[in-house]
Amino acid sequence: MTKDETQGLSTRCVHTGSDPEAPFAHGSVMTPIFQTTSFAFPSIEVLQDFLEGRAKDRFIYTRTGNPTVRAAELKLAGIEGGDDSVILSSGMAGITTAVMSSLKAGDEILSLQEIYGKTAHFFTRTLPDWGVKVRFVKATDLDSARTMINEKTKVFYIETPTNPTLRVVDMKHVAEISQEFGLTSIIDGTFGTPFNQQPLKAGIDLVVHSGTKYLSGHSNITSGAIVGNDERITKARDHRMTFGGILDPFGAYLLLLGLKTLAIRVEKQNSSALEIARFLEAHPKIKVVHYPGLESHPQHEIAKRQMKGFGGMIAFEVDGGLEGVKAFANDLNLILRATSLGGVESLMTIPVLTTHRFISKEEREQMGVGDGLVRLSIGIEDKKDIIADLDHALAAI
Ligand code: PLP
Repeated sequence: MTKDETQGLSTRCVHTGSDPEAPFAHGSVMTPIFQTTSFAFPSIEVLQDFLEGRAKDRFIYTRTGNPTVRAAELKLAGIEGGDDSVILSSGMAGITTAVMSSLKAGDEILSLQEIYGKTAHFFTRTLPDWGVKVRFVKATDLDSARTMINEKTKVFYIETPTNPTLRVVDMKHVAEISQEFGLTSIIDGTFGTPFNQQPLKAGIDLVVHSGTKYLSGHSNITSGAIVGNDERITKARDHRMTFGGILDPFGAYLLLLGLKTLAIRVEKQNSSALEIARFLEAHPKIKVVHYPGLESHPQHEIAKRQMKGFGGMIAFEVDGGLEGVKAFANDLNLILRATSLGGVESLMTIPVLTTHRFISKEEREQMGVGDGLVRLSIGIEDKKDIIADLDHALAAI
């Protein structure tokens, strides 16, 4: 089914991009897996038509495109409300491809300071070697962005809500600043999901996701995505062909399967997480809870304006620093001690030991990542069972 933005989000999740009448689909309700590297042409003339952009429904080689991957791209573009999307083999492949396709040597990036650890690593350790300078602006000080922009600045990169401290950034404000200075605005929307927020409607140019998380939703594939207008996505697709980061057809099939239930999963995760965050906030062993849905969250008003629900991610700081966190973590029975997020199982991580391990203590402190911080990804289990597990484990501190 082609994109129809009059349809509700759940309907788009289920139907957009699926075409039972596509060649070789034989009426399949679920998109087939085209597990092939190459596609044959009935004649050299048809091959020439394809190479010259006329035979748009054909494929030539899976690194450049594949029907199962294409179905996932069309579905995600429909869900996110973009002209088009490209699907890649990991979130980092999406982030690096989106950024590299928007820059050249000598340019500068303005980035939010509170971003995913490996993205920060790409900006501070990799890009400088390629002649790209990065400046950082704090989530709480967006207005100073204007003073950091110069004629070399080409990209404004943000994440919202941020990993792991759940700060919320005003997307419209970022889009306005970017438009004023002619910058490409890029948002990592992994935590927000296209169910809870629609960055393109707020004026952001490119949305990137780690599809490993909520989009696929079952902790079974690494994948990534970039969504935006035709011009930017064509450029990103060209870079994906060169960098070679396309998702494999079986991965794309699992992503398609996950996307069908995105709305229903995230809706449940939103409602469970809000109740769990309230439980944690009232608990005597907890110093602070970071959850955009709580009235105590410093950017709660922005979150209410730009998010439909507040997501399934919660961060909180326990008494007793790292030792306190370890005692708590070791006593969990249901919530898994596992990295990653956005799946149907509830998971917990300790950012200083995992995602932020290679970031200096000084940088971590600037990001608000203390030793006693716990990150929770709420799954789709019954919330009473998740709360009981947390209550039991907190008693170990
Ligand atoms: N962005 C965010 C917010 C993440 O949490 C992660 C991974 O945890 C990534 C990007 C990178 O995604 P991937 O692991 O799929 O490369």
